[in-house]
Amino acid sequence: MKKNPLKLDPTRTSLLRRKFMIEMRRRFNKVYAGIVDLIVDKDAFGLVRQKIVTLNVVPQQWQYQTNPQKLNSFKTWLQNMVNTNILAVSSTKIPGQAWTADYVWAAHKSGTLKAYSAASKTGAVTLPQYLAGSQAQYLMTVFSRPATMESLQMLYTGTYDSLVGVTSAMDTQMSRILTLGFVQGDNPIVIARSLKNALGISKARAEMIARTEVIRAHAEGALNGFETLSIDNVTPDVEFSAVLDDKLCPECEELNGQEYTIEEARGIVPVHPNCRCSWSPIV
Ligand SMILES: [Zn+2]
Repeated sequence: MKKNPLKLDPTRTSLLRRKFMIEMRRRFNKVYAGIVDLIVDKDAFGLVRQKIVTLNVVPQQWQYQTNPQKLNSFKTWLQNMVNTNILAVSSTKIPGQAWTADYVWAAHKSGTLKAYSAASKTGAVTLPQYLAGSQAQYLMTVFSRPATMESLQMLYTGTYDSLVGVTSAMDTQMSRILTLGFVQGDNPIVIARSLKNALGISKARAEMIARTEVIRAHAEGALNGFETLSIDNVTPDVEFSAVLDDKLCPECEELNGQEYTIEEARGIVPVHPNCRCSWSPIV
């Protein structure tokens, strides 16, 4: 039996989610490579006591600091590393936004286009005369509405703030590991391994944010799209649309097919992390 790919990916964002996730992973991996370089290769804490004299070795920068000083030096270093590779990277397309906004924007746009094509193809929503037959005009109208801009800004900020939350939890976790490592006099490879685990957890959370925020931006984009298609201020109602496969959770199954006004629908999707649901016009 052939599977309909649209049934499995009604938001058509699986590629975008994947790209965002890979980019997230790549950025966290850079931070980890920096950590290994710092504490194993460069032995910044001066933990490798076996080496007595080596020539041409990079100075062990924090070797003669007290443990609290070492910890502070590391925290400053880590913050800088996280900023350089994750938080302070600007969007290449949207002025004043972080790199994450590129994915949010694309997901939102794909949601608005879904609303348009659903409206034009199914006839579930009657298109306002001036928008019929012109996708470009429609997109211009959606993106010139102050409500859309406001909604996009909230999506950008929400995604970014979640990422800040992940990195600050990572900072706390890594500081604990280092403190313990110093107390126990662990060797840098052992410490690096523990830091890798902490980073792995943070990376997984960041990847989940990437997946989930694409779904959120897509859903809000669809709602912003449907709102643009209102005629005489009457906005069409929408229907919750889940992916009906074996990964479907009971919560989303319960919501599937339920009808809402656009106002009511806002904020419902994602229902949970890694949600894949969206909004459809009521046929
Ligand atoms: Zn869901």
